[in-house]
Amino acid sequence: MGISIRSIDKSFDDFKALKNVSLEIKQGELVALLGPSGSGKTTLLRIIAGVEKPDQGSVLFFNEEIKDLSLSERKVGFVFQHYALFKHMTVFENVAFGLSVRPRKMRPSKEEIKKKVHELLALVQLERFLNRYPSELSGGQRQRVALARALAIEPKVLLLDEPFGALDAKVRKELRAWLRRLHDELHITSVFVTHDVEEALELADRVVVINEGKIEQVGKPEEVYHDPSNPFVYHFLGNVNLFHCRVEDGKAFIGNMPLALPSHVSPDAKSARIYIRPHLFEVEKTASGNQSFKGTIKYLNPAGPIVKIEMISEWGDLINVEIPIGQYYELEIKKGDVVYVRPKEMKFFSDDYAI
Ligand code: ADP
Ligand code: MG
Repeated sequence: MGISIRSIDKSFDDFKALKNVSLEIKQGELVALLGPSGSGKTTLLRIIAGVEKPDQGSVLFFNEEIKDLSLSERKVGFVFQHYALFKHMTVFENVAFGLSVRPRKMRPSKEEIKKKVHELLALVQLERFLNRYPSELSGGQRQRVALARALAIEPKVLLLDEPFGALDAKVRKELRAWLRRLHDELHITSVFVTHDVEEALELADRVVVINEGKIEQVGKPEEVYHDPSNPFVYHFLGNVNLFHCRVEDGKAFIGNMPLALPSHVSPDAKSARIYIRPHLFEVEKTASGNQSFKGTIKYLNPAGPIVKIEMISEWGDLINVEIPIGQYYELEIKKGDVVYVRPKEMKFFSDDYAI
C-alpha cells in the first residue's frame, strides 16, 4: 500500500474538522480529495504530510508510520495553491533548492544538481527560463516551477493543494492535462486537493468526496459521477433536478407520472426524492406513453455543443434540461413551445436522507 490513513480525527478547539477518516491509497495512484470549501481537505493533506498532528489515528507511508520518520525520510513533495517560490532566486535556484540544502553527506555534487535541474525543467517545459525570476513568469509557468521543485527531491509521495486554484480557466485546463501526462510518466503516489469537480473527474484515478470532515464516497470518477452514494455527492458533482414525489401503491409519482420504485426504497415510504441530471431527459414534441411530462420552454441557450433549456413543468417546477445541438436542430424548438420530457435515467433516495 502507498498511503494508509487510519481513523483520523482532528478538532480545532471544539470544531471537528475531520471525523474518523480512513483511506487507502495505492502506490502510483493519483487520488483527488474533492469537497466544498471548509470540508477538511487541506487539514487532511497536512496530516498526510505530517505537518499537522491528528488527535486520533495514524498515517502510514509504505507501511511505516510517518510519525516515526524524519522529515527527509518521508520524502514528500508539496505544491500549494499560492506558488511559494523564492522570489529572490532564479528558476534554476528554486528547483535546485531542495537538493542544495541537504547535509553535505547526502548532497549531490554541483554537476549532479545541475543535471537534475535541467532534466526537471525539460520535464515541465521550462528549460529556456532557467535564469528568470518568478516575477518574470506567468502564473501557469510558476506553478510548473513549483512542481519541478517538489519533484527535485524525488518524492515518494506528491501532495498538491489546489495547485491551479489561482490560475485562469484556460491555463487550469492546460495544466490539468499536463499534470495527468506527467503522472502517467512518473507514477508518483499523489494526492491532489481540489473543490473543482471537473478537475477531479478529469485528473484522478480515484476521487474521494469529502463533506464536513467526513468521506462521503470513494470511487473512480465515473463511479462517483454516475452512481453517487447519497444526495450530497449527487448535488456536488453536477447540476441536478430534484423531484419530491409521493409514494402510493408501491409507485412513486412525479406529477401524475408513475414510476416503479427501486428495491432500496421502502414501499411503505410516503415520499421519496428523485434526482435527474439535465442531460438524462429525452425531449419530444409528442407524448410517448405515460412516461413523460409536459414542459413549457422558458429559456434556451444554443451557444455550444450542448443546448441548455429551462422549462416549467406542468405542475409549475423549474426543470433544467440539456440536449445535444443536433437534436435541438431536429426538434426545431423555441421559447414558449410546449414539449414532452421523458426521464431516461434517475436516482431515488429515501426522504430520510439528510443532506
Ligand atoms: P478545506 O481545505 O476543505 O477548505 P480546511 O481543511 O482548510 O478546509 O478547513 C476545515 C475546517 O477547519 C474549516 O472550517 C477551517 O476553518 C477549520 N480550520 C482549519 N485549520 C484551522 C486552524 N489552524 N485553526 C482553527 N480552525 C481551522
Ligand atoms: Mg483548503
